[in-house]
Amino acid sequence: MSFFGRNRAPRARRSPTPSGGTAPTRKDSGGSPSRSPSPGSQAPKPLYLCSPFADAALVKGNFKTIVMLPKYTDIMEWVAVNIFDFYTNLNEFYGVIAETCTQHTCPTMSGGPLLNYVWTHQGGKQAALPAPTYIDYVMTSIQNLVDDENIFPTKSNQVFHPSFPATVRTVYRQLLRVFAHIYHAHYPQILHLRSEPHFNSLFAHFLAFGREYELLEVRDIKGEPNAPAGVGLLWERWKEKGILES
Ligand SMILES: [Zn+2]
Repeated sequence: MSFFGRNRAPRARRSPTPSGGTAPTRKDSGGSPSRSPSPGSQAPKPLYLCSPFADAALVKGNFKTIVMLPKYTDIMEWVAVNIFDFYTNLNEFYGVIAETCTQHTCPTMSGGPLLNYVWTHQGGKQAALPAPTYIDYVMTSIQNLVDDENIFPTKSNQVFHPSFPATVRTVYRQLLRVFAHIYHAHYPQILHLRSEPHFNSLFAHFLAFGREYELLEVRDIKGEPNAPAGVGLLWERWKEKGILES
């Protein structure tokens, strides 16, 4: 479904995340987060692709139903509230692991063994930034957008700007990069917090929503053939398992 070209009055913003979407804490007895990847694989497999971590989720089954546009809901508003929710939740997760993401540990915005995202400044100039700086730029720029009533209107008589679809696509791509960096560089911390079911559910929901409303391209998720994103493999795995649509 595409929301491009639609432009109607918004409704009050509410959080659509079924899990409640609050702090990433979870008390549960599970496997040791520090256990090493399963033996026998040739290349060391990242933990986020290993059982049981890869398939741990709060939401069981397919994500298709929770991304569908609810009846009587404006599609632009639906996209806006979901993006706001993804941003808020991801920001909380990053806040929890941020002390382990420093210029020293993460000198590049890595999203895979060979993939480093480059920040594009306004005007097109590109810069390789340390991950914490890059993520700070992402989160600050999104906060500024959601605070801007002209871009994310909250009043009932306002309409969305015609550039809203293009803006949210950029936002979505940047949020994906933050997910990709956390999975690639900080999954041990997510496991240490026992937050992998919550984090996986948030990311699967994010992917399902992004594909449903054409906010993400396959290339964004998988990276380039010579520089694949680690999360591309996770996406493939979840499609095979029926968690996400192919
Ligand atoms: Zn980092």
